[in-house]
Amino acid sequence: MKTSEEYKEHLYKMKPNIYINGEQVGRDDSRLAGSMTTISRTFESVNDPEFKDLITATSHITGDTINRFTHIHQSVEDLLKKQDMTRQICHYTGGCIFRCMGVDAMNALSIITARAESMTERPYHQRFLKYLKEWQTNDTVGCCAQTDPKGDRSLRPHQQADPDLYLRVIEHREDGIVVRGAKHHITAAAVAEEIIVTPTRFLTPEEDEYAVSFAVPGDWDGVYLVTRASNMKQRENVPCPAGTFGDVENTVIFDDVFVPNERVFLGGYEGEHQFGGWLALLFALYHRHSYTGCKPSSTDILLGYSALVSEYNGIEDKKHVQSKLADLISVAELVYASGIAAAYKATKDECGTMIPDPMFCNVGRKHAGKNYYHELETLADLSGGLPATLPFERDFFDEEKIGPLLQKYIKRKADIPAENVYKLYRTLSDVLCSSIGGVISVAGVHGGGSPVMEDIAILKQYDIDSRKAIAKYLAGITDE
Ligand SMILES: Cc1cc2nc3c(=O)[nH]c(=O)nc-3n(C[C@H](O)[C@H](O)[C@H](O)COP(=O)(O)OP(=O)(O)OC[C@H]3O[C@@H](n4cnc5c(N)ncnc54)[C@H](O)[C@@H]3O)c2cc1C
Repeated sequence: MKTSEEYKEHLYKMKPNIYINGEQVGRDDSRLAGSMTTISRTFESVNDPEFKDLITATSHITGDTINRFTHIHQSVEDLLKKQDMTRQICHYTGGCIFRCMGVDAMNALSIITARAESMTERPYHQRFLKYLKEWQTNDTVGCCAQTDPKGDRSLRPHQQADPDLYLRVIEHREDGIVVRGAKHHITAAAVAEEIIVTPTRFLTPEEDEYAVSFAVPGDWDGVYLVTRASNMKQRENVPCPAGTFGDVENTVIFDDVFVPNERVFLGGYEGEHQFGGWLALLFALYHRHSYTGCKPSSTDILLGYSALVSEYNGIEDKKHVQSKLADLISVAELVYASGIAAAYKATKDECGTMIPDPMFCNVGRKHAGKNYYHELETLADLSGGLPATLPFERDFFDEEKIGPLLQKYIKRKADIPAENVYKLYRTLSDVLCSSIGGVISVAGVHGGGSPVMEDIAILKQYDIDSRKAIAKYLAGITDE
């Protein structure tokens, strides 16, 4: 398995196809370091006793021990371990671990390439298995580029004024395909070794050209990453783990990119629209199952901050505080429970990959998304206004006049040192008032699909008629 140093070395050797606010940069740009530190945790955890049995798995194709972030789930236990690994590891990075997008896309592809191969006789699954072997051997970090620009939301891909607003195949060649388009909001693309592309939505028969899926290295010819990196504000006196991590979001542009056949998992040929749609839904499903690990983790972190700040302020045992903490616990554990239920109710696809139960994945993700801003509101409520008005470090740690005065007036409970109060509020300020805090909040709502997408998935599968029948029975309605 790879080390974090080997991962970074690989990235540093890639071509500088990243654009940040007018500059073209390589992966050694300091603004990307925080996100690499986040991903590094997935390599470092392999040697951490806390993650023993969680972070490694046995490859079903080679029998080798591999990082679970490259594993294709073969059992209920695999799904449960992925969920637990995600919940636990996110505690160390203070939020998103960035590696689930890649493994979620690979699991979805394991199923769709098998179906597509059996129905089209194109060797999609054989190619996928070959690619998977390398992926696992190299302990690859991948991102998933699913979300198209989408243009006018009321129109389908083939109805858009500009057909490139959804990524599509513009040329089929003997040795591969040429694709054109872009993908928005792609987390971690600038710090990923590979970009996996999938369609974003259900497709109709007019839309075969949009049924395209492939993987390319992040610095492939014709691929441009327009990158927005968010990092915590620099700390001078109060370094802390949460301050070392970052987030990186990317617009990925595919400017007439040639993809050789061995990297094409769905080629946009006639009749392939159905596979494109299934792949879009299946990636979203795996990703929503991953959310049942990372979102309870986010709530654990917000709960911890909420309880600690209440303790420092001397209000932890107050009734309204206890009630708010119980609310946070309920969200974390219900979302977590939905992931466990999704694993126990999972089905095994013909190709051997476990598919978590869609109903439980979607209700869990919906519950998490609906509550994220509410959880932040709880933290803001219990913290008071100081996260927004906290004096800067150089004033607080000034040794002449201002520092000692600030240290006197920040005091809450007498036995809590002023510096600890400052450290906590500095971190709360990062969570509630920073650029990266804002990015994470929007991700809490839209990551894995807008809330309406979960509603659609839930309503499509739920048997509401049987509930109406119960209502009729109970109300004594028998004449219809
Ligand atoms: C921080 C962050 C990280 C992300 N990471 C990734 C990633 O790694 N990979 C990836 O592929 N994607 C990623 N996403 C994208 C995410 O899945 C999308 O943001 C989400 O699917 C919503 O799409 P959108 O942003 O285009 O918003 P829109 O689709 O424009 O949604 C805006 C509103 O319009 C509504 N709407 C849209 N279309 C319709 C319609 N036809 N009918 C009725 N209402 C409609 C939506 O319900 C929503 O209320 C990320 C997003 C964020 C914010």
